[in-house]
This record gives sequence, structure tokens and C-alpha cells, in this order.
Amino acid sequence: MSRDKVFNYAAGPSVLPESVLRKAQSELLDYHGSGMSVMEMSHRSKLFQGIFDEAKARLKELIAVPDSHEILLLQGGATTQFAAIPINLLEGGAADYAVTGHFSNRAAEEAKKYGTVRLSCDTSDTNHDRIPTQSELKLSADAKYFYYCANNTTAGTEWHYVPKTAAPLVCDMSSDILSCPVDVSRYGLIYAGAQKNMAPAGLTVVILDKSLIGREPEWTPTMLSYQTMVKHDSMLNTPPCWNIYLFSLVLAWVQEQGGIPAMEQLRAERAGMVYEVLDNSSFYKPHARRDSRSFMNVTFHTPTKELDAAFIAEAAARGMLNVKGYKTQGGLRVSLYNAMPVEGAVAIRDFMKEFEVAHHV
Ligand SMILES: *Cc1c(COP(=O)(O)O)cnc(C)c1O
Repeated sequence: MSRDKVFNYAAGPSVLPESVLRKAQSELLDYHGSGMSVMEMSHRSKLFQGIFDEAKARLKELIAVPDSHEILLLQGGATTQFAAIPINLLEGGAADYAVTGHFSNRAAEEAKKYGTVRLSCDTSDTNHDRIPTQSELKLSADAKYFYYCANNTTAGTEWHYVPKTAAPLVCDMSSDILSCPVDVSRYGLIYAGAQKNMAPAGLTVVILDKSLIGREPEWTPTMLSYQTMVKHDSMLNTPPCWNIYLFSLVLAWVQEQGGIPAMEQLRAERAGMVYEVLDNSSFYKPHARRDSRSFMNVTFHTPTKELDAAFIAEAAARGMLNVKGYKTQGGLRVSLYNAMPVEGAVAIRDFMKEFEVAHHV
């Protein structure tokens, strides 16, 4: 099956803008007349430093990162931050964790190794089908930070407000960063694994309030120390050069499309098409409650497991790939990140309608 016949709804790693891949292809063997690929050049070279600085500058401009915050380009995936955050910020104390899905649960479990974790909320009783309201959040007076995950990639729910807390906000934005505006100044720390909406797997972006730097204990592994990484501008060791280059190309692409406002409009348009089918169907059952729906990952079931499997197989036969739900979640999941063209939402919407007519009893 060729690329032009396929829509890839994978949750991550996920689709990248085709024009970005083509640009990378055209520069693959010889970057800007250097005779080298970005994969082959020293990370200490002027040429790579230019790529690195440009990537940071583009991110800073695109989401208006204030001078009060540092941008780090790290490795180890979002999962490494589950440990790095409590190590750097807990100071042996306590933090509030909002558990609204698979990844925030894992982050809370990891943080318990380094201090006291207080569950601000836990939606596991209804299989993470919703985001709690502000008044439901339990906030402790001595919390070093409040942790939440903006978009729950596996459950298909998303926070549609920024929690109000006295403690600094720490947020996992892995699966909705760059899809809607964010007031960075309100956050102590924002982080995101790149492979959902920004770049290939292997790069993790951390945006950190400078006032939180330097609180980690002496035993902190060097690679996990924010202070050390800030001091070395993320280049204590070899950074993921190729990923940073592609990240920069994706940022330029977002800018060309009209920036974050354009991404926000497009995500509403794409997800709206799929939710409209769910809302007008007695066949499909959406997983997320209406007020908590994700714009990036739409999760739902057909009436039976057999029909779920048939849906996945028939969709794949038509070039609509990777619509299987997360392993612990089951059912179906259609991920509609920034790089998904609107035609991809149209295609899955039309297929869903057709499948319902063919299989409704
Ligand atoms: C994918 C994902 C993660 C895990 O990312 P890795 O880079 O695989 O560690 C964490 N949080 C969220 C919200 C995710 O979507």
C-alpha cells in the first residue's frame, strides 16, 4: 500500500507532515551544501548548533515561552520525566497528582519512589472516562507541585481548563502540545514526548520555570538533573540531533499553516466530524463523557469485540491504519494529531457511517 493511499491514525509514533518528510529527504544526504547528513555531523559543530538554536527559537516564538522559562531538549521519552520531575522538584516532600488515565497513573506510581504522592483525583472508578471539575480537585497546602496530564492519549479525554492551584503546575502535554494555545507562564513545568505531535520518537521537550531549577538532591543522576541540563544547554552529552532537526522542520510547518490558532481550528474540525457520527449513532458507544472529550484521540466501541475487530480489519483494507484501541482500553481509537489532513477525518467519518449501516442489527 503506498503512502498516498493511506491515512495513519496511530496514537504514537504518529503521522508527520508529508512536506516535512520530503524536505528531510531532500536534505538527507547533503545538508545545506555541507556534504554531510544531519545524522553525520558533530553536535559541537557550528552547523548543528544553528539547527539546535533555530529549533528552540521556533518553539519559543510559536507558543510564546517567556524569558522566565528554559527550554530543554532531552532524551528518554516522556516516561523518563515521570522520575525526573519528582527527583528535581519534590525535595523529599509531597506533591498532588491528578490521575485521569494510564500515563498520569504511571507518573504517580513512579513519583512514590521519591516522596509522598497525594491523589488529587482518581477517575479509575469509571475507567477514566472524564476529567474532574476544579471543585473536585483535592489540593494539599504543602504540595511542591500539582501534576496532571493535559490529554489522556489512551482514554481519549482532555482537560479543557487549567487547574487553579497554589502549587506550581506540572503538566504532561505529550499528546496535545502545539494543538491549542497554552499560557506557558502559568506552568512550573511542561513536558512532552515528541512522537505524538512534534517529531519522531527520541526527543522530549521540557519547558521549565527558572525558579524551580537547582532543588534536586546530590544523588540525582547527572542525566536527570535539570540544573545540569540547563547549564549545558541540553548538550551535556550527544543530543538526539536528527530528531531535533525534524522537530525544527515540524515547528516551521506549524508556523506556515498559521501557527497554533490554525492548529486549534483544525483539531476541532477533524475531531468534530468523528464525534458527530458517535452522537448520531446507537451503534457506536463513545468512551469519554461529552464535556471531557479529547480533540486528539477519539475513543469508542462498537456493540461487540467481534465487530471492533471487523472494523479494524475493514478499515485497514481501505488504507485506514492503526485504529485499534490501547491494549488496556480495548475498542477503537482514532488519533487526529496536527499532521492529520482534514481528508483523513472525512475518510474515517464516512467509513464509520458505512460500517454502521452494514452491521447494525
Ligand atoms: C505516549 C505518552 C507518554 C509516554 O511517552 P514515551 O515517550 O513513550 O515515554 C506519556 N504521556 C503521554 C500523555 C503520552 O501520550
